[in-house]
Amino acid sequence: MEDIQKVALVTGGNQGIGAAVVTKLASDGFFVVINHHSDSSKQAAEQLAETLEREYGIETMVLQADVADFDQVKEMVASIKDRFGRIDVLVNNAGITRDGLVMRMGADQFESVVDTNLGGTFNCLRHVAPIMVKQRSGRIINISSVVGVYGNAGQVNYSASKAGIIGLTKSAAKELGSRNITVNAIAPGFIETAMTAQLDEKANAALTDRIALNRLGQADDVAASVSFLASDDASYITGQVLGVDGGISL
Ligand code: NAP
Repeated sequence: MEDIQKVALVTGGNQGIGAAVVTKLASDGFFVVINHHSDSSKQAAEQLAETLEREYGIETMVLQADVADFDQVKEMVASIKDRFGRIDVLVNNAGITRDGLVMRMGADQFESVVDTNLGGTFNCLRHVAPIMVKQRSGRIINISSVVGVYGNAGQVNYSASKAGIIGLTKSAAKELGSRNITVNAIAPGFIETAMTAQLDEKANAALTDRIALNRLGQADDVAASVSFLASDDASYITGQVLGVDGGISL
């Protein structure tokens, strides 16, 4: 078998689910590229990269870019290609929320969430796909959400962006399948990260009641599914939406 060193790009890889994904893929032996957005997250991204290099003997790269910006993503992808020559796994994980009721939601509140979550996923797909097509192999894993399937009051912007990711995933799976590229989505339920930290105790208890497994999920639960979809064992799975939600959707 050909001995190829595989490379994974994880957007929003500096914290939360993204950091868990980066860590899991590094432990699987991938060279990892950690994308982050804010200046304030640079240090955390660099620390994580150093730890993973030490722990797993892999190579890493930290790249700051706004996934919502087509040209910044183009530049980011070009610098990965320059350094490693390939991209085997793309995890579109970067995402934001700006919740509010639809009657009060501003255009900017809607657009910023859709541009980052859905636009960012498109931008990365757009620039990484040609590299994977040339390689005749690749795995694209898009982090959607259970609310993209079922909806959620107060999140028309976020749930629209996450539903859009599911449509994008299925269409890209059809386009790219003949080139040995799989495209799948993961729809996490409620996972304990900074994004869900603002829930108060009452909201938390009400939420937990709706989850068959009776607990919130952990970032590692999502990371394990990404690792599976990136593995050889998942080579015949494409265009799917994998729920990692403790049974909240049952
Ligand atoms: P988080 O802790 O808030 O992390 C979000 C990440 O996205 C950060 O690394 C952030 O980078 C990055 N990001 C935000 N805007 C970006 C941009 N324009 N360009 C590049 N990176 C950007 O969130 P999380 O809970 O880990 O969520 C990760 C993904 O899972 C998101 O797509 C989220 O929608 C999805 N998800 C989460 C849950 C949940 O319950 N937590 C459930 C379903 C789906 P900076 O720190 O540099 O800003």
